[in-house]
Amino acid sequence: MSNEEFLCARCARHMKTCCQTPEIYVTPGDVERIANHVGRRDFFHFRVPTDPIYLEEDDDPVWQQHIFREDNSRRVLKKTLDSDCSFLGPQGCTLPLEVRPLVCRLYPFDYDERGIRDDLATGCPLELLRPGQQLLVALDMKIDDARRWHKQLYEEIRVEKTSQQMAKDEADFPIDLDALTSCTSATTTALSTDQ
Ligand code: SF4
Ligand code: SF4
Repeated sequence: MSNEEFLCARCARHMKTCCQTPEIYVTPGDVERIANHVGRRDFFHFRVPTDPIYLEEDDDPVWQQHIFREDNSRRVLKKTLDSDCSFLGPQGCTLPLEVRPLVCRLYPFDYDERGIRDDLATGCPLELLRPGQQLLVALDMKIDDARRWHKQLYEEIRVEKTSQQMAKDEADFPIDLDALTSCTSATTTALSTDQ
């Protein structure tokens, strides 16, 4: 095994990372998985994006229609006073990989509802790669994992719409657990069928 320092550790010394600058949307499923892991559910809130670019992603209507509420707010992870993600620790993310928000697991894959796009997102410091080194190799990311997480992400995004409709009059926690459970069961069945 290589003793080379992981790219994300070098990135963190080089610049603000993907755990510091973006606003991280979390699905109802993300909330349940994280809450089960950390034993609390005070880690998210509904916020209107500070960067209007989040409201302009009209090339993905499923995303656009399902995650934003009528006031343009959406469910995102809370940040620290320094604007870091509240789950960022000295050694990186404090959540296990399969508990992290799906959008975090997928980064820097770029995608829309139809699937993973050919080109990656542009936020990683390519200048830190060794000559000839591929970004996904440096990050130890696999396309099969990305496809599985992408499928799960859009299934959970679609539950979001149901949650919002059913919880229109509720103040703060519009999650349809019954729909989420059947969605998760369907995902599990589909995955086991695929294998
Ligand atoms: S995924 Fe990319 S932007 Fe995020 S910490 Fe790693 S190298 Fe930096
Ligand atoms: S949940 Fe983890 S991976 Fe996602 S932004 Fe926060 S620290 Fe980074």
